[in-house]
Amino acid sequence: MTAPLIDPFQRPISYLRVSVTDRCDFRCLYCMAEQMTFLPKADLLTLDELDRLCSSFVDLGVKKLRITGGEPLVRRNIMSFFRAMSRHLDSGRLEELTLTTNGSQLAKYADDLAACGVRRINVSLDTLDATKFTHITRWGRLEQVLEGIAAAKAAGMRVKINTVALKGFNEDELFTLADWCAREGHDLTFIEVMPMGDMEGRLDQYWPLADLRARLAERFTLHPLTERTGGPARYVRVGETMQKIGFITPLTHNFCESCNRVRLTCTGELYLCLGQEDRADLRAVLRDSDDEDVLRAAIRDAITRKPKGHDFDYGRQTVAGQMPRHMSHTGG
Ligand code: SAM
Ligand code: SF4
Repeated sequence: MTAPLIDPFQRPISYLRVSVTDRCDFRCLYCMAEQMTFLPKADLLTLDELDRLCSSFVDLGVKKLRITGGEPLVRRNIMSFFRAMSRHLDSGRLEELTLTTNGSQLAKYADDLAACGVRRINVSLDTLDATKFTHITRWGRLEQVLEGIAAAKAAGMRVKINTVALKGFNEDELFTLADWCAREGHDLTFIEVMPMGDMEGRLDQYWPLADLRARLAERFTLHPLTERTGGPARYVRVGETMQKIGFITPLTHNFCESCNRVRLTCTGELYLCLGQEDRADLRAVLRDSDDEDVLRAAIRDAITRKPKGHDFDYGRQTVAGQMPRHMSHTGG
């Protein structure tokens, strides 16, 4: 039962992203509507169920676990889940436990996360301007997030800043953000806005990263790095500052051939691909049976359905391959 997970296209599945909640204390314009209807609590996997499922994936050879959401750090008692997962780091079966967060709760949890073996975190930050920050997140306060990032750094964690590239919004902050990250010692990754959820105004916001990269190259010498993470990011090293900058371009670049990941929602649905609707209901399996073999067999069965790739394409005027669900549902 413990042979590694290999999908039909011979891709080993070694990376699980887990959304632990659909809730969030922000309402980023490109991610959520202001009025969201969240899932009833009973639909969510309990922290014990999440532990059981994630541990099954670790049994099946998953080496990297990324916790996301919604905002993972607003889930009640989430540190007990991180502590539980840290036992897999201690045993050496899991190589990395990490999270993607909006940073609002980091000041409170940075030390605990570091104590659980979290070495690197991704923090989403689209602007360094307090007014613009509150505009784009609707409910967020920049200062709180910057304090959280400072706490993470002080706790010894490596921080990667994730910035969604938004035309007319943060174009003018390209170098401010890059300089700030270089000064603070944070890596930086730009993400193209994806056609998820409510698409109102999204076509106008789309800022192709090829343009962004060309703008960076006007001031910096960019050395492409060959390193790949199995995900959609490509990286460069900036000659002048030696900082690493990444580009996540799901729309203009096809990265599916090296995909090593699957996504688990907070209700126990396993999405085989971020851009496809096919999924397996692992919650039903989990709640029907205590037998770990049954659960592992269901995971293996789901992996046999992993598709070759996604179909996102903004095209010229229209959005093809658009997904109706919000990013907070599957966890970005
Ligand atoms: N709340 C956490 C955060 O903001 O980092 C984790 C969940 S959030 C859904 C994960 C990532 O998805 C964030 O970096 C966010 O910027 C990104 N994201 C959300 N909606 C997006 C969209 N429509 N296109 C591209 N990235 C998006
Ligand atoms: Fe919340 Fe993250 Fe979505 Fe913003 S991007 S609304 S912080 S889940």
